[in-house]
This record gives sequence, C-alpha cells and structure tokens, in this order.
Amino acid sequence: DQIFADARTAGAQPVSFEMFPPKGELTLERAREVAAQFATDEPDFISVTYSAGGSGNSAATARIASMISTEFGIPTVAHLTCISLTHDTLAEKISEFRAAGVENVLALRGDLPAGMSEAEAGDIAFPYAKDLIPALVDAGFCVGGAAYPEGHLTCDDLPTSVKHLKQKQDAGAGFFVTQLFFDNDYFYRFLELADAAGITVPITAGIMPFMSKQQITRMVFTCAASLPSPVIKILARYEDDPESLRQAGIEYACRQLEDLKAHGAEGLHVYTMNRPDVARACMSALRI
Ligand code: FAD
Repeated sequence: DQIFADARTAGAQPVSFEMFPPKGELTLERAREVAAQFATDEPDFISVTYSAGGSGNSAATARIASMISTEFGIPTVAHLTCISLTHDTLAEKISEFRAAGVENVLALRGDLPAGMSEAEAGDIAFPYAKDLIPALVDAGFCVGGAAYPEGHLTCDDLPTSVKHLKQKQDAGAGFFVTQLFFDNDYFYRFLELADAAGITVPITAGIMPFMSKQQITRMVFTCAASLPSPVIKILARYEDDPESLRQAGIEYACRQLEDLKAHGAEGLHVYTMNRPDVARACMSALRI
C-alpha cells in the first residue's frame, strides 16, 4: 500500500499509468522515450505489464520497471502472471525482480491457454492469483491484484467475482487495480459490493480511452465491459472519421476520470497504450 500512502500523504488521489512491452516489441530504448514523456506528467506510479507468451518477457518487464524507477524516480509496479509458473520458475522470477530492484508486483493469473477450462486450471501449480500472492508477499514485495467491476469474463456473476477478490485480499493483496470500464455506475455499484464483502484495501479505477471501433470491440469481448449508449453514439457518429473518433474517445475517458475524481475514487489508473498524448490529455483533465 506504500505507493498509495505516498500519494495520499501529498493530499491527492494517486494517478497511475500503464506501460506494456507488447510481445517483446517495446525495446528498452523506446520504453525510455515513452517513460521520459510520461515522467513530465508526474504519475504516482507506472505499472508495467507482463506478456506471458514467449520467453524472456518477465525480464523485459523487470528491466523496464527498473529503468523507470531508477532513471525517472517514479515508483513502478511490475505485473506477473502465474498460470504457466511452477514453483521453480516462480523462484526464478522472484530473483529476477529482486535483482532489478522491483518492490511492487501486480499478481495476476493470466488468461488460460486456448482450450484449457477453469476446471483444468485447478491442476496447475498456481491456478489463481490468490495462490501467487502469498509467495510474493513472503518474498517481501508489496502486492496488488486485479479487480473486475463487471465481474471477470469467466466468472458467472458479480457477487462470486467479489468473493474471489476478497480471497485475494485475505491472501495478502494490499491494493487492487480494476479492469477497464466505460460506465462509471458499474464501478460505483461494485465499490458498494466490495465494501459489503469486507474489502478495505484501496481500489484504483482503470480507464482506457478508446481509439477505434476495432479496438473497443476487442475490449468488449476480452474484458466483458459494457458499452453504454453514449459510447455507441460516438462510434456511430465518427464511423468514417478515425481522427475525430480518437479525439472523442480521449475526451470520453477524460470525462470518466473527472467524474471518478469527483466521486472520491481512491486511485485513477490510465491504460495509456504507451501513448504520451493520451496520458497528457488525461492528466490535464484531472488537473483542472
Ligand atoms: P484470478 O483472480 O485468479 O481469477 C481468474 C478467474 O478465476 C476469475 O474468473 C475468478 O473469478 C476465478 N476464480 C478466482 N478464484 C477462484 C476460486 N477460488 N475458485 C474458483 N474460481 C476462482 N494479463 C497478462 O497476461 N499480463 C498482464 O500484465 C495483465 N495485467 C492486467 C492488469 C489488470 C489491472 C487487469 C484487470 C488484468 C490484467 N491482465 C493481464 C489480465 C488477467 O491476467 C486476466 O484477466 C486473467 O484472466 C485473470 O487474472 P486474475 O489475476 O484476475 O485472476
């Protein structure tokens, strides 16, 4: 919770950005350029995603997280997924993170490999994020987890999703970052459920500005996020005008962030898609 405590001490809601090394394509040099631009907006922390497929990606996550905190003085959160880990490979990841000076980790399950069912996942070393969290806490990391304001894609209902979230808190998660959502009312209702379930650690709201119809369609199906009618109207209005659609997507995210700020959200996390212009627009809206 230290990353949240530092921001709160300064009397503000923590605002954070996400960076990703997509399939190893984000070289350290390019990540440095993006981070340098992000740094001018002074986010409270930057989280760096973990690409479970392929090899060497946790090293990329650790290297980028380390570069951001040492060169720009911005706290970082390194993501780690557990679905493919064994006890031995987890020990290797922990050593790798320690060697890179990583202090905060977002503990994730990761998506199931194609064709694997939730029932089959029960046979592997770390079937759920809640099984990874204690190992990371024991290793001395400050650990967070993912939260789903509309319920996780493969979870039958929201109350069950909240029950699983509570298990992550009980396992030692000190903060949560939410899946993206386009309708803040889902987030507010989710906070009530989380509160009733005894979740007391900070929950930071994740917002992704939409950039194209193709992107938002993918998000809706991979994240089970609802599309409210104002978003559908924007998509229809700018169907043949990609640049106006992009601008409208950023503006929509800015309005969501302003509303969340006004409602006292404990943290605001921007899925920046490695785009400094997106981060800048969101930060400017929040400063007003
Ligand atoms: P879990 O909390 O383990 O939940 C997975 C599923 O199992 C859910 O349906 C849950 O309801 C269910 N479940 C949990 N506990 C139990 C239980 N005890 N019994 C039965 N069912 C249970 N993916 C990446 O590959 N790399 C990333 O860097 C990454 N970053 C992310 C960041 C955020 C903020 C979010 C929201 C997601 C991110 N993801 C990332 C995606 C994430 O890996 C997927 O959403 C994944 O499917 C679930 O991960 P989880 O940690 O929430 O899993």
